[in-house]
Amino acid sequence: MTIAAIDSHTTLYGVIGDPVRHSKSPVMMNRAFAETGVNGAYMAFHITPPMLKDFIGGVRAMGIAGVNVTIPHKQEVIPFLDEIDASAQAIGAVNTIVNRDGRLTGYNTDGIGYVRSLKEEATAELEGKTILLLGAGGAARGIIHALVKERPGRLVISNRTSDKAQALAAAYEDKGELVPISQAELSHWCGQADIVINTTSIGMHPLVDALPMDPAWLRPDTVVSDLIYNPLKTSLLKEAEARGCRIHGGLGMFIYQGAYAFEYWTGKPAPAAAMRESVLAALGQS
Ligand code: NAP
Repeated sequence: MTIAAIDSHTTLYGVIGDPVRHSKSPVMMNRAFAETGVNGAYMAFHITPPMLKDFIGGVRAMGIAGVNVTIPHKQEVIPFLDEIDASAQAIGAVNTIVNRDGRLTGYNTDGIGYVRSLKEEATAELEGKTILLLGAGGAARGIIHALVKERPGRLVISNRTSDKAQALAAAYEDKGELVPISQAELSHWCGQADIVINTTSIGMHPLVDALPMDPAWLRPDTVVSDLIYNPLKTSLLKEAEARGCRIHGGLGMFIYQGAYAFEYWTGKPAPAAAMRESVLAALGQS
Protein backbone atom coordinates (compact mmCIF):
# COMPACT_ATOMS: atom_id res chain seq x y z
CA MET A 1 0.00 0.00 0.00
CA THR A 2 1.35 3.42 -0.95
CA ILE A 3 0.39 6.53 0.99
CA ALA A 4 0.32 9.76 -1.00
CA ALA A 5 2.28 12.69 0.38
CA ILE A 6 -0.17 13.80 3.06
CA ASP A 7 0.63 17.25 4.42
CA SER A 8 -1.11 20.14 6.19
CA HIS A 9 -3.03 21.03 3.04
CA THR A 10 -4.40 17.57 2.28
CA THR A 11 -8.18 17.51 1.91
CA LEU A 12 -10.11 14.57 3.33
CA TYR A 13 -12.82 12.63 1.45
CA GLY A 14 -14.49 9.32 2.20
CA VAL A 15 -17.25 6.77 1.87
CA ILE A 16 -19.72 5.81 4.59
CA GLY A 17 -21.64 2.55 4.79
CA ASP A 18 -22.60 -0.33 7.05
CA PRO A 19 -20.85 -2.58 6.10
CA VAL A 20 -18.07 -0.71 4.28
CA ARG A 21 -14.87 -2.77 4.44
CA HIS A 22 -15.67 -4.45 1.09
CA SER A 23 -15.73 -1.06 -0.67
CA LYS A 24 -13.40 -0.47 -3.61
CA SER A 25 -14.06 3.31 -3.52
CA PRO A 26 -10.92 4.18 -1.51
CA VAL A 27 -8.66 2.34 -3.98
CA MET A 28 -10.42 3.99 -6.92
CA MET A 29 -10.57 7.54 -5.56
CA ASN A 30 -7.04 7.66 -4.14
CA ARG A 31 -5.81 6.52 -7.56
CA ALA A 32 -7.86 9.33 -9.15
CA PHE A 33 -6.27 11.89 -6.80
CA ALA A 34 -2.80 10.55 -7.55
CA GLU A 35 -3.39 10.62 -11.34
CA THR A 36 -4.67 14.20 -11.34
CA GLY A 37 -2.33 15.68 -8.73
CA VAL A 38 -5.17 16.53 -6.32
CA ASN A 39 -3.90 16.78 -2.75
CA GLY A 40 -6.65 14.59 -1.32
CA ALA A 41 -6.97 11.44 0.78
CA TYR A 42 -10.01 9.16 0.72
CA MET A 43 -10.97 6.84 3.60
CA ALA A 44 -13.72 4.28 4.32
CA PHE A 45 -15.74 5.07 7.46
CA HIS A 46 -17.87 2.36 9.06
CA ILE A 47 -20.89 4.39 10.15
CA THR A 48 -23.89 2.58 11.67
CA PRO A 49 -27.35 4.20 11.47
CA PRO A 50 -27.29 5.71 15.00
CA MET A 51 -23.94 7.39 14.18
CA LEU A 52 -25.09 9.08 10.97
CA LYS A 53 -26.12 12.44 12.45
CA ASP A 54 -22.86 12.77 14.40
CA PHE A 55 -20.86 11.81 11.31
CA ILE A 56 -22.43 14.64 9.32
CA GLY A 57 -21.58 16.99 12.21
CA GLY A 58 -18.02 15.69 11.88
CA VAL A 59 -18.00 16.43 8.13
CA ARG A 60 -18.84 20.05 8.94
CA ALA A 61 -16.40 20.31 11.87
CA MET A 62 -13.47 18.68 10.09
CA GLY A 63 -14.13 20.19 6.68
CA ILE A 64 -14.35 16.81 4.95
CA ALA A 65 -14.76 17.98 1.36
CA GLY A 66 -16.73 15.12 -0.14
CA VAL A 67 -18.46 11.91 0.91
CA ASN A 68 -19.86 8.94 -0.96
CA VAL A 69 -22.85 7.36 0.70
CA THR A 70 -23.75 3.70 0.40
CA ILE A 71 -26.17 1.22 1.98
CA PRO A 72 -27.99 1.82 4.36
CA HIS A 73 -27.68 5.63 4.43
CA LYS A 74 -28.71 6.82 0.94
CA GLN A 75 -32.18 7.94 2.04
CA GLU A 76 -31.56 8.55 5.74
CA VAL A 77 -28.78 11.10 5.15
CA ILE A 78 -31.09 13.53 3.31
CA PRO A 79 -32.52 15.39 6.36
CA PHE A 80 -29.00 16.18 7.61
CA LEU A 81 -27.92 18.02 4.43
CA ASP A 82 -28.47 21.69 3.52
CA GLU A 83 -29.52 21.19 -0.07
CA ILE A 84 -30.51 18.30 -2.33
CA ASP A 85 -29.92 18.47 -6.06
CA ALA A 86 -33.15 18.13 -8.11
CA SER A 87 -32.26 14.67 -9.49
CA ALA A 88 -31.36 13.28 -6.07
CA GLN A 89 -34.60 14.78 -4.75
CA ALA A 90 -36.63 13.03 -7.44
CA ILE A 91 -34.80 9.73 -6.94
CA GLY A 92 -35.15 10.06 -3.17
CA ALA A 93 -31.56 9.00 -2.51
CA VAL A 94 -28.12 10.60 -2.20
CA ASN A 95 -24.85 8.83 -3.02
CA THR A 96 -22.54 11.87 -3.15
CA ILE A 97 -22.19 14.83 -0.77
CA VAL A 98 -20.28 17.97 -1.75
CA ASN A 99 -19.11 20.29 1.04
CA ARG A 100 -18.82 23.85 -0.30
CA ASP A 101 -17.57 26.12 2.50
CA GLY A 102 -19.61 24.26 5.09
CA ARG A 103 -22.77 23.96 2.98
CA LEU A 104 -23.56 20.31 2.25
CA THR A 105 -25.31 19.40 -1.01
CA GLY A 106 -26.51 15.88 -1.86
CA TYR A 107 -26.36 14.45 -5.39
CA ASN A 108 -27.12 11.10 -6.97
CA THR A 109 -24.59 9.92 -9.57
CA ASP A 110 -25.69 6.23 -9.75
CA GLY A 111 -28.21 6.58 -12.58
CA ILE A 112 -26.17 8.95 -14.75
CA GLY A 113 -23.10 6.78 -14.11
CA TYR A 114 -24.97 3.71 -15.28
CA VAL A 115 -26.33 5.31 -18.46
CA ARG A 116 -22.91 6.74 -19.38
CA SER A 117 -21.43 3.27 -18.98
CA LEU A 118 -24.22 1.54 -20.95
CA LYS A 119 -23.89 3.98 -23.86
CA GLU A 120 -20.09 3.91 -23.96
CA GLU A 121 -19.64 0.18 -23.45
CA ALA A 122 -22.69 -1.55 -24.93
CA THR A 123 -25.16 0.45 -26.99
CA ALA A 124 -24.80 4.11 -27.94
CA GLU A 125 -28.42 4.64 -28.97
CA LEU A 126 -31.26 4.22 -26.46
CA GLU A 127 -33.91 6.35 -28.16
CA GLY A 128 -36.96 4.30 -29.18
CA LYS A 129 -35.65 1.09 -27.58
CA THR A 130 -37.74 -1.30 -25.49
CA ILE A 131 -35.89 -1.71 -22.20
CA LEU A 132 -36.83 -4.36 -19.64
CA LEU A 133 -35.75 -3.75 -16.04
CA LEU A 134 -35.65 -6.62 -13.58
CA GLY A 135 -36.11 -5.15 -10.09
CA ALA A 136 -37.61 -1.98 -8.64
CA GLY A 137 -35.32 -1.08 -5.73
CA GLY A 138 -33.18 2.00 -5.13
CA ALA A 139 -30.77 1.37 -8.02
CA ALA A 140 -33.66 0.83 -10.45
CA ARG A 141 -35.15 4.17 -9.46
CA GLY A 142 -31.91 6.06 -10.15
CA ILE A 143 -31.50 4.28 -13.46
CA ILE A 144 -35.05 4.98 -14.61
CA HIS A 145 -34.58 8.66 -13.72
CA ALA A 146 -31.54 8.79 -16.04
CA LEU A 147 -32.97 6.47 -18.75
CA VAL A 148 -36.17 8.45 -19.39
CA LYS A 149 -33.96 11.39 -20.50
CA GLU A 150 -32.69 9.17 -23.36
CA ARG A 151 -36.27 8.88 -24.72
CA PRO A 152 -36.55 5.05 -24.88
CA GLY A 153 -39.66 3.73 -26.64
CA ARG A 154 -40.82 1.81 -23.58
CA LEU A 155 -39.53 0.96 -20.11
CA VAL A 156 -40.94 -2.33 -18.82
CA ILE A 157 -40.52 -3.04 -15.09
CA SER A 158 -40.73 -6.47 -13.46
CA ASN A 159 -40.31 -6.99 -9.73
CA ARG A 160 -40.90 -9.79 -7.23
CA THR A 161 -42.98 -7.34 -5.16
CA SER A 162 -45.25 -6.09 -7.93
CA ASP A 163 -46.54 -3.06 -5.94
CA LYS A 164 -43.06 -1.55 -6.15
CA ALA A 165 -42.93 -1.95 -9.95
CA GLN A 166 -46.32 -0.27 -10.21
CA ALA A 167 -45.31 2.61 -7.91
CA LEU A 168 -42.09 3.20 -9.86
CA ALA A 169 -43.91 3.20 -13.20
CA ALA A 170 -46.52 5.62 -11.81
CA ALA A 171 -43.81 7.98 -10.51
CA TYR A 172 -42.41 8.45 -14.03
CA GLU A 173 -45.59 8.07 -16.12
CA ASP A 174 -45.37 11.69 -17.32
CA LYS A 175 -41.83 11.07 -18.64
CA GLY A 176 -42.60 8.31 -21.15
CA GLU A 177 -44.21 4.88 -21.55
CA LEU A 178 -43.56 2.85 -18.43
CA VAL A 179 -45.14 -0.60 -18.16
CA PRO A 180 -45.19 -2.53 -14.85
CA ILE A 181 -45.59 -6.25 -15.52
CA SER A 182 -46.24 -9.40 -13.52
CA GLN A 183 -43.74 -12.26 -13.26
CA ALA A 184 -46.06 -14.28 -15.55
CA GLU A 185 -45.52 -11.71 -18.35
CA LEU A 186 -41.73 -11.77 -18.08
CA SER A 187 -41.07 -14.35 -20.81
CA HIS A 188 -43.19 -12.38 -23.31
CA TRP A 189 -41.43 -9.06 -22.57
CA CYS A 190 -37.99 -10.67 -22.71
CA GLY A 191 -38.77 -11.55 -26.29
CA GLN A 192 -39.75 -7.93 -27.00
CA ALA A 193 -36.80 -6.24 -25.28
CA ASP A 194 -33.85 -4.63 -27.06
CA ILE A 195 -32.10 -4.26 -23.70
CA VAL A 196 -32.60 -6.29 -20.49
CA ILE A 197 -31.15 -4.80 -17.29
CA ASN A 198 -30.83 -6.76 -14.05
CA THR A 199 -31.09 -4.27 -11.18
CA THR A 200 -31.81 -6.94 -8.55
CA SER A 201 -29.13 -8.33 -6.27
CA ILE A 202 -29.72 -11.85 -7.63
CA GLY A 203 -26.40 -13.32 -8.79
CA MET A 204 -24.25 -11.14 -6.52
CA HIS A 205 -21.38 -12.67 -4.55
CA PRO A 206 -21.60 -15.09 -2.72
CA LEU A 207 -24.79 -16.54 -4.35
CA VAL A 208 -23.18 -16.37 -7.79
CA ASP A 209 -25.18 -19.21 -9.41
CA ALA A 210 -28.57 -17.52 -8.90
CA LEU A 211 -30.41 -16.15 -11.96
CA PRO A 212 -33.02 -13.34 -11.96
CA MET A 213 -34.85 -14.87 -14.98
CA ASP A 214 -34.74 -17.83 -17.35
CA PRO A 215 -32.01 -17.00 -19.92
CA ALA A 216 -33.78 -19.20 -22.51
CA TRP A 217 -36.23 -16.29 -22.98
CA LEU A 218 -33.49 -13.98 -24.34
CA ARG A 219 -33.21 -13.13 -28.04
CA PRO A 220 -29.64 -13.29 -29.42
CA ASP A 221 -29.77 -9.65 -30.57
CA THR A 222 -30.67 -8.36 -27.09
CA VAL A 223 -28.18 -6.37 -25.01
CA VAL A 224 -28.08 -7.85 -21.51
CA SER A 225 -26.80 -5.64 -18.71
CA ASP A 226 -26.23 -6.39 -15.03
CA LEU A 227 -25.59 -3.81 -12.31
CA ILE A 228 -23.64 -6.35 -10.26
CA TYR A 229 -19.84 -6.07 -10.55
CA ASN A 230 -18.87 -8.77 -8.07
CA PRO A 231 -18.59 -11.13 -9.92
CA LEU A 232 -17.63 -9.09 -12.99
CA LYS A 233 -19.50 -11.57 -15.20
CA THR A 234 -22.65 -12.85 -13.46
CA SER A 235 -24.36 -16.13 -14.29
CA LEU A 236 -26.99 -14.11 -16.19
CA LEU A 237 -24.28 -12.49 -18.33
CA LYS A 238 -22.55 -15.83 -18.95
CA GLU A 239 -25.84 -17.40 -20.07
CA ALA A 240 -26.67 -14.39 -22.24
CA GLU A 241 -23.23 -14.43 -23.86
CA ALA A 242 -23.64 -18.15 -24.63
CA ARG A 243 -26.87 -17.24 -26.49
CA GLY A 244 -25.09 -14.63 -28.59
CA CYS A 245 -26.28 -11.53 -26.70
CA ARG A 246 -24.03 -8.51 -26.22
CA ILE A 247 -23.33 -8.24 -22.48
CA HIS A 248 -22.57 -5.33 -20.14
CA GLY A 249 -21.49 -5.68 -16.48
CA GLY A 250 -21.80 -3.33 -13.50
CA LEU A 251 -18.16 -2.26 -13.20
CA GLY A 252 -18.61 0.70 -15.56
CA MET A 253 -21.51 2.00 -13.46
CA PHE A 254 -19.33 1.87 -10.36
CA ILE A 255 -16.47 3.67 -12.13
CA TYR A 256 -18.67 6.40 -13.61
CA GLN A 257 -20.71 7.08 -10.45
CA GLY A 258 -17.31 7.68 -8.85
CA ALA A 259 -16.10 9.72 -11.82
CA TYR A 260 -19.06 12.09 -11.53
CA ALA A 261 -18.47 12.42 -7.78
CA PHE A 262 -14.78 13.21 -8.41
CA GLU A 263 -15.77 15.84 -10.98
CA TYR A 264 -18.28 17.47 -8.58
CA TRP A 265 -15.62 17.61 -5.85
CA THR A 266 -12.59 18.75 -7.83
CA GLY A 267 -13.90 20.39 -11.03
CA LYS A 268 -11.38 18.25 -12.95
CA PRO A 269 -12.14 15.51 -15.51
CA ALA A 270 -11.96 12.13 -13.80
CA PRO A 271 -9.21 9.71 -14.95
CA ALA A 272 -11.76 6.96 -15.64
CA ALA A 273 -9.33 4.50 -17.27
CA ALA A 274 -6.94 4.61 -14.30
CA MET A 275 -9.86 4.31 -11.88
CA ARG A 276 -11.09 1.20 -13.70
CA GLU A 277 -7.60 -0.31 -13.69
CA SER A 278 -7.29 0.19 -9.92
CA VAL A 279 -10.65 -1.44 -9.18
CA LEU A 280 -9.93 -4.40 -11.46
CA ALA A 281 -6.62 -4.92 -9.65
CA ALA A 282 -8.36 -4.71 -6.26
CA LEU A 283 -11.06 -7.19 -7.33
CA GLY A 284 -8.36 -9.57 -8.48
CA GLN A 285 -6.86 -9.52 -5.00
CA SER A 286 -10.13 -9.87 -3.06
P1 NAP B 1 -32.49 -2.70 -3.13
O1 NAP B 1 -33.04 -1.32 -3.09
O2 NAP B 1 -32.42 -3.50 -1.88
O3 NAP B 1 -33.36 -3.52 -4.23
C1 NAP B 1 -33.13 -4.89 -4.45
C2 NAP B 1 -33.99 -5.39 -5.62
O4 NAP B 1 -33.69 -6.77 -5.83
C3 NAP B 1 -35.48 -5.30 -5.38
O5 NAP B 1 -36.15 -5.09 -6.61
C4 NAP B 1 -35.78 -6.71 -4.83
O6 NAP B 1 -37.14 -7.12 -5.03
C5 NAP B 1 -34.89 -7.55 -5.69
N1 NAP B 1 -34.54 -8.81 -5.06
C6 NAP B 1 -33.63 -9.02 -4.07
N2 NAP B 1 -33.58 -10.33 -3.76
C7 NAP B 1 -34.49 -10.97 -4.55
C8 NAP B 1 -34.90 -12.31 -4.70
N3 NAP B 1 -34.37 -13.29 -3.96
N4 NAP B 1 -35.85 -12.59 -5.63
C9 NAP B 1 -36.40 -11.62 -6.39
N5 NAP B 1 -36.05 -10.30 -6.30
C10 NAP B 1 -35.11 -9.99 -5.38
O7 NAP B 1 -31.00 -2.72 -3.71
P2 NAP B 1 -30.36 -1.70 -4.76
O8 NAP B 1 -29.65 -0.63 -4.04
O9 NAP B 1 -31.42 -1.35 -5.75
O10 NAP B 1 -29.22 -2.62 -5.44
C11 NAP B 1 -29.57 -3.65 -6.35
C12 NAP B 1 -28.32 -4.24 -7.00
O11 NAP B 1 -27.65 -3.23 -7.74
C13 NAP B 1 -27.29 -4.80 -6.00
O12 NAP B 1 -26.78 -6.00 -6.53
C14 NAP B 1 -26.22 -3.74 -5.97
O13 NAP B 1 -24.94 -4.28 -5.68
C15 NAP B 1 -26.27 -3.25 -7.41
N6 NAP B 1 -25.73 -1.88 -7.53
C16 NAP B 1 -24.61 -1.71 -8.29
C17 NAP B 1 -24.06 -0.45 -8.41
C18 NAP B 1 -22.81 -0.26 -9.25
O14 NAP B 1 -22.14 0.77 -9.08
N7 NAP B 1 -22.52 -1.16 -10.16
C19 NAP B 1 -24.64 0.65 -7.76
C20 NAP B 1 -25.81 0.44 -7.00
C21 NAP B 1 -26.34 -0.85 -6.89
P3 NAP B 1 -38.26 -6.79 -3.92
O15 NAP B 1 -38.68 -5.37 -4.14
O16 NAP B 1 -39.35 -7.76 -4.22
O17 NAP B 1 -37.63 -7.00 -2.57
